[in-house]
Amino acid sequence: MISVIGANKNFGDFAALDNLSLDIPAGSLTALLGPSGSGKSTLLRSIAGLENPDSGTITIGGKDVTGVPPQKRDIGFVFQHYAAFKHMTVRDNVAFGLKIRKRPKPEIDKKVNELLEIVGLDGFQHRYPAQLSGGQRQRMALARALAVDPQVLLLDEPFGALDAKVREDLRTWLRRLHDEVHVTTVLVTHDQEEALDVADRIAVLNKGRIEQVGTPRDLYDTPANDFVMSFLGPVA
Ligand code: ATP
Ligand code: MG
Repeated sequence: MISVIGANKNFGDFAALDNLSLDIPAGSLTALLGPSGSGKSTLLRSIAGLENPDSGTITIGGKDVTGVPPQKRDIGFVFQHYAAFKHMTVRDNVAFGLKIRKRPKPEIDKKVNELLEIVGLDGFQHRYPAQLSGGQRQRMALARALAVDPQVLLLDEPFGALDAKVREDLRTWLRRLHDEVHVTTVLVTHDQEEALDVADRIAVLNKGRIEQVGTPRDLYDTPANDFVMSFLGPVA
């Protein structure tokens, strides 16, 4: 479980997070949904520790992580434009976190093979990122984020740069992966359809605040206000 309690983040006199509180249940796939500039990335980066709120508390698995640096937060993250290590093979990219943790080679090999199979990239170990498609690169990024068995997986529009068909395939695939691995996942998106399709919970953000949290069904059937209603529907 992730808890954000009364988080504020100001840029100048602009409130990117405005006394925002949110509970994310362990094992859920929660989407942060909202228009551009609503604070989704700021919230995700705050959970990751890449950004520090001006005030408020964040706990992960019951542990207060306020002020704790990202590498000590037991998280994996993937961004829209994933920066792979270009000079490293797929295998070495995925193995990176395990190597810096000085895990024994047989353990690394086993884990990397397992993960590449899960993300559908077995047989691609020896390729370089430049030799992968965009969708394959994002799947490699996910394998890399999962390699160290994080408690939490944070995804900021990971499929945003890809074309519609590939996005759709990848979100189906992400759903299946989540059903298999059960890591608590937070997915930032401004795509209503993606959130409704893939998430088991959706938090709708607007101007640094949460408008509503619930299952896709809850939000669609009983939107809390006009903003949620106009932002969610009509979906094709
Ligand atoms: P998008 O869908 O476009 O990615 P978002 O919901 O992720 O939007 P954020 O990136 O969290 O939005 O930004 C929220 C607000 O905070 C925006 O108005 C943005 O301009 C502002 N902001 C974010 N980071 C900074 C920064 N480093 N300096 C100044 N303003 C910032
Ligand atoms: Mg963003």
